[in-house]
Amino acid sequence: MRKTTNKPTFIPKMYCALFGHDFRVTKKVTYHVKEYACKHCKKELTTNSNGALIELTPKFRGINAILSRIHHSKTRRLRTHP
Ligand SMILES: [Zn+2]
Repeated sequence: MRKTTNKPTFIPKMYCALFGHDFRVTKKVTYHVKEYACKHCKKELTTNSNGALIELTPKFRGINAILSRIHHSKTRRLRTHP
């Protein structure tokens, strides 16, 4: 009697453990701060004020939302100045 074996399901986290995360920019907050998400395990990162990559927690998502708003209002103002 043959036991039907399911194909081993590809675990994204396993892939990341072996090959590393494959981060893509999901959002440009400012020139220096970006949000990233791993293509495989959906882990999210962001750049903090020191330029280091840290995990994107709800707290930082909030900070980024504010930064983004400030950044965009700044760039809009800059455009009116030659
Ligand atoms: Zn990953």
